[in-house]
Parts: sequence; structure tokens; C-alpha cells
Amino acid sequence: MAVWDDLVGQDRVTAQLAAAARDADAIVTAEHAESAGSAGAAQGPSADRVSASQMTHAWLFTGPPGSGRSSVARAFAAALQCSHHGAGVPGCGFCDGCHTTMVGTHADVEIVRTDLLSIGVKETRDLVRRSSLSPAGGRWQVIVLEDADRLTEGAGNVLLKAVEEPAPRTVWLLCAPSIEDVLPTIRSRCRHLSLRTPPVDAVADLLVRRDGIEPEAAARAARASQGHIGRARRLATDERARARRAAVLKLPLRIDDIGGCLKAAQELIDAAGEDAKQVAEEVDAKETEELRAALGAAAGTGGRLPRGTAGVMKELQDKQKRRATRTQRDSLDLALVDLTGFYRDVLALQMGAPVPLANDEVRDSVQRVAAGSTPERTLRRIEAVIACREALDRNVAPLLAVEAMTASLRAA
Ligand SMILES: [Zn+2]
Repeated sequence: MAVWDDLVGQDRVTAQLAAAARDADAIVTAEHAESAGSAGAAQGPSADRVSASQMTHAWLFTGPPGSGRSSVARAFAAALQCSHHGAGVPGCGFCDGCHTTMVGTHADVEIVRTDLLSIGVKETRDLVRRSSLSPAGGRWQVIVLEDADRLTEGAGNVLLKAVEEPAPRTVWLLCAPSIEDVLPTIRSRCRHLSLRTPPVDAVADLLVRRDGIEPEAAARAARASQGHIGRARRLATDERARARRAAVLKLPLRIDDIGGCLKAAQELIDAAGEDAKQVAEEVDAKETEELRAALGAAAGTGGRLPRGTAGVMKELQDKQKRRATRTQRDSLDLALVDLTGFYRDVLALQMGAPVPLANDEVRDSVQRVAAGSTPERTLRRIEAVIACREALDRNVAPLLAVEAMTASLRAA
């Protein structure tokens, strides 16, 4: 299966990238021929060839969460490493270059994904150093930055120079939710491609085809996730994710009195905390043990750490703490997205819009809330949920923000 096949509903972007990959392949082939023939490839022709082609050194992929930004970046990276010189588009999916890129082991593809809230100067310096290396496989040195929106300003300045004057065979692939999330100096030097929210049917189809999920469950999950591919997959495969979503969707029926509001708010926060705890349990202990081993501590817990390594251990603990905060926030944000979807369904019923409900499994609740309010009230409620997400973005204490939201939902 070609590397492009999993990109759902992004035909225009895929066509542009395929064209760029074809030109990129022509550049590599021409230079190999040259260096085999005469004096070896100089850096000049490479730069000229790139600027004359549909290929470029810095790309920015934006799109709503779940639209597949990182999948697009990875597919393009694979196509750049594809060594299958058939007549078709690079990105065969079978050759070594494609395969190792897709599984994350290609020596010339660095995929940077962060659990943290920000990417700092130090990490960025390491990447820039890496970007100046010649590709070991003779094709392209590709660096995928999945969360370019999390670069601190200092980190952005470090990156800027590398994006402005890239090594001849280096390609930067940046991903972010929207173009406004990326520092203006950086984004102005990238070619920007924006992805759209994939259609529900296409998401369902992918779940069936790629993950072997049964069609009916796939359709339900795709509808509930409103085009968010990763979330759809999680809903279709993870019982706990379904349970948490069901709990969130009960909230609109529980906000008739202040006590109910406060209780519902606390439960939302607790559920997000549970998520963070679960991730921590799965990852932290293993990570800590690996670091201890790497530092040369005696095996098992209780082994003493060599002198002078306490700082490194502390750094890991800080990182784990920041990751817990991030997981908790992401989880809360997903709950709020579900809640917005609920009220959107309410509004659809109130307006008599002929659209399928995203939350068809709780149609009774949607109908009850729709019958007991007006479209104006529903709009105010949607605004209250959006305001809460914005408050969380501004670092307002989560419980405070969610309590304020439930109070507004009730008052609306
Ligand atoms: Zn290939």
C-alpha cells in the first residue's frame, strides 16, 4: 500500500506533495549521475535545482486536531526517502526507505513529538545541529516537528536560521493547528499547506480498512469524533474512552441546580486527572528505570545512583510532571469538545436541520435539552464551553474554569 493511502480526504494536499516528491527524486537522481560522472556534486546545483522545482526545504502543515497533520508529514518524509524508481509517484510503501520511515527507524528522518507544553532552546539547538548533517542514505535529511506551535520564542529564533539557510539536502516539515500558532518569522519561510477536517465517511472507511474495525462500530466512532481520526480510533477500540465520553454527555442533564453544577465540574476534573494518572502509570516507571540503568545504577529499585547524576534524574521527574499536566489538559479539552458537539446537536434539532446527530447514542438527552430551551440559549451554552476552553488555554485553574462554565450553562 502506497504511503499516501492512509491520508483521508486530503486529495489536493496529497497531489501537491506527490509532485514535490517527484521533483525531489529527480534532483537526487541528477546529482547522483553527476557525481558518478565527473567532479562530484557541488552544493550550488542542488540549491538551484530545488528553487526551480516544486520541492522546497521548509513546509508547514496546518489543520484542525485529528485532521492527520503528522500522518501527512510522515507520508511525505517516506516519499522523499523512497528508492523505488518506477514510473509512478515516489512513496511506494514497500521499499526500505518508505518502510523504515513509516515505522520510525530511518536514519535520516527525525520525528519530534513532544509530551510537553513547550519546546525549548536546548532541544531546538540539538535539532538544528542534526539538520546540518548530510543524509546518511544519500537522499534527504528530514526533520518533522509535530508540534511547531509549542516552540518557545527563543526556540523559534534558533530554528529560524536553520530554516532560512538550510543545508542543501535538508527538509523541515512543521505541523501546527493553524498558521497563527506559528511564529510569523518561521511561517513566512515555509510553504504552507492546510488540511481540512476529513469527512465522517472517509474516517469510518479508514478505521475499517486500516485497523480492521467492524463497519458499524467504525461509523459510530467516526460520527462521534466529528472527523478526528485518532479520537475515532480510540473510541472504537478503547472501552474506557467510551465510558468517559458517555459520562461527559450526561452533564447537560445535571446542571439544573448549583450543587449539580459543582459536582459535575469536579467529576470532569477528576476524569482528566485519572487519564493523566493512567498515562503516568504506563510510562513513568519504565522511563525512570531505563534512565537509572543508563546512568549505571544497580538493577532494580533501591540501587544507588552514581555521584553527580541526581540532576539528570530530577530533569526526568520534571519532564514527567509537565507531561502529566499536559495529559490532564488534553483530556479535559477533549471532554469540552464532546460537550460542544452535544449542544451543536441540540441546536440542529431546534433548528430542524436535516443533519445526522454526532451523538446519536444519547438522542433522548439531546431531545430533552432541545425541547427545554431555545436556540438562543443553546448558542449561549456553546459560547460558555468555548470560553472555558479559552480560559484553560490562558492557564486559568481548571476547576475554576469548569465551575464557571457549568454555572454559565445553567444560567443561559
Ligand atoms: Zn518506496
